[in-house]
Amino acid sequence: MTVEKKTPIVGLAGGIGSGKSTIAVFFNRLGIQSVDADDVARDVVTVGSYCLNEIQKHFGKKILQQDGSLDRKALRDIIFKQPKEKLWLESLTHPIIRDSLTTKLAHATSAYVLLVHPLLFETKQNTICQLTIAVDTSAQTQKERVLARDSVSPGQIDSILASQLTNEERLKKADLIIKNDSNDINDLSKKVEQLHNRILELL
Ligand code: ATP
Repeated sequence: MTVEKKTPIVGLAGGIGSGKSTIAVFFNRLGIQSVDADDVARDVVTVGSYCLNEIQKHFGKKILQQDGSLDRKALRDIIFKQPKEKLWLESLTHPIIRDSLTTKLAHATSAYVLLVHPLLFETKQNTICQLTIAVDTSAQTQKERVLARDSVSPGQIDSILASQLTNEERLKKADLIIKNDSNDINDLSKKVEQLHNRILELL
């Protein structure tokens, strides 16, 4: 009888704009597959999905754009002002996101699979990981990078930062750390390679 070996899960945690996606690409180049929690969260509310139908039933048509897709800004505005609605939305989407993440992670075939998650510890998804990594980026650098990347205001970034663990809190919780404060991408690539070798030793 052959016993199927489960692919170990390594969580990559980091706040908004800390560099998770950039770091994940370097891991991908080393042959490590990754699952991005933000992508899964987007997938569960696509047109025709169970979640989007429930959201529409709950909030009405005003929550949809002309093409029938979710009006994310309208939803963000509601849940930002009404904590009860935020809880309602989370109780609908979180179990479905968790199931989808688990299925995707179980399909991975690389030496380990990276779970890229902005709220890895906040949502307790670290409990399904064999190891966790925190991206160490200062709030100042996070803000600068997000302002350069997205059309958001500094105030919006501040409120997102306030809803996530601080960098210091995250670093305390993680097994491993990758620093991403400099703009030297080659240096980041080398750090990922070192981290990859360390992970292989630890697993
Ligand atoms: P989010 O959770 O907000 O999606 P993230 O943690 O995945 O963000 P990235 O999208 O990887 O972060 O990085 C944020 C921005 O900063 C991107 O525009 C990316 O190109 C840039 N960036 C990340 N790391 C570096 C670096 N070391 N040097 C220069 N630019 C970087």
